[in-house]
Amino acid sequence: MSTFISSNLESLMAWAQATSLWTYSIGGGCCVDEMLSAQGCRYDLERFGCLPQSHPEQADLLIVSTAVTQRMSEVILEIYGRMPSPKYVMAVGACANGGGPFSERVTYAAARPLEEILPVDVYVPGCPPRPEALMNGLIRLQEKIRSG
Ligand code: SF4
Repeated sequence: MSTFISSNLESLMAWAQATSLWTYSIGGGCCVDEMLSAQGCRYDLERFGCLPQSHPEQADLLIVSTAVTQRMSEVILEIYGRMPSPKYVMAVGACANGGGPFSERVTYAAARPLEEILPVDVYVPGCPPRPEALMNGLIRLQEKIRSG
């Protein structure tokens, strides 16, 4: 009986978490325009329970849509450290996924994949990804959280 209750409680917690992802976004590149439009009324991310926050302490999903340069790495790590657990990370766009056009081959600031500094839960491809791609990434993350 106790196993039944605890497994149902875990499912309930996972469902609650998956459907109330509060986000903190770091965007410094051209992807930001698409990500901002995804927050608008046309795409309405709030119907997924996705609410943007202005403080990392209130967020459980970090969305990174920028080139991860050496200097940005320090900022991203500091923000990630301020988020409460459990927390999730989404890499948006070619820059965050793998360096993109600013990879170490072409810039002295040596942009690198986000996964080199943080555990990335979901990758959203594109340069820039459209809002639909971000929505797809959110749905994939919700599935991942629900499945434990
Ligand atoms: S992935 Fe492409 S669109 Fe996004 S920030 Fe990098 S260069 Fe700009």
